[in-house]
Amino acid sequence: MASPDIILQHLKELARGEIKRQRDIQSLYKNFRLALYDALGVESDEIVKISSLGRYRREIDLAIDDFAKKLRAGLDRGLISGAKIAVSHASDEIKALQKGIGAKYVPLNIRASVVISRAEKLLLSQYESSVGRYSEHLRGRIGQILSQAALKNSTLDQVTKQLAGQRGLISAESYQVERIARTEYLRAYNIGRNQSTREAKRVLPDLKRRWDATLDSRTCDICGAADGQIAELDKPFKVHGVDLMTPQDSHPNCRCAETPYREAWKEYFK
Ligand SMILES: [Zn+2]
Repeated sequence: MASPDIILQHLKELARGEIKRQRDIQSLYKNFRLALYDALGVESDEIVKISSLGRYRREIDLAIDDFAKKLRAGLDRGLISGAKIAVSHASDEIKALQKGIGAKYVPLNIRASVVISRAEKLLLSQYESSVGRYSEHLRGRIGQILSQAALKNSTLDQVTKQLAGQRGLISAESYQVERIARTEYLRAYNIGRNQSTREAKRVLPDLKRRWDATLDSRTCDICGAADGQIAELDKPFKVHGVDLMTPQDSHPNCRCAETPYREAWKEYFK
């Protein structure tokens, strides 16, 4: 009943969720690539002219908007499932730790729907702004490539390949969306955990939270330093002098989780 087993188990489940998300993202990118081919009129040896740039940009803007819309829709579901998994994990974990010290059971799942709807609001706005930032970034990069093409007398076919071909911008960028998905999914997970731990605090007033880093060869300095840090549920962690409300505020791709913590459980975290 030691906590490392529980933590290992939840990380495995997280990894499974992540793989599913990545598959969704790959198909999303394939569609985006097709939309760009469409927008630029593929297989055309027409030279890109400065006078036509506005028209291409408008078409590409539509493709990006559509892509961002699908990205939001697909991942909204993923994030909500992340928060739901978090609630049941936090509940199981609290139950297991309470059992370890022979204390009373906390019926956390009863209020799970309330917890989820609150977590949902918090995480969807975060995710919305990540997608928004990314769309703007894509618009800028694509605009640059189009302008350069017009100066170099490239053909539309060449530009399309440069943007959406096998080794084009879109392929090179696909990791960015995976990064957003992975980071936001884990953020959702942690927000769900935090919200459910707050529910449990009604029964166990001394509940706090603990930063749980995935300590392996890929652990960064920030997370290595933060590992094991205890904070109040509504107060930030402090790492290298910076306030962080949730581990995913520290850096993209952060794989850390927050865990419910009480002084009485101390020995389980050694
Ligand atoms: Zn981390």
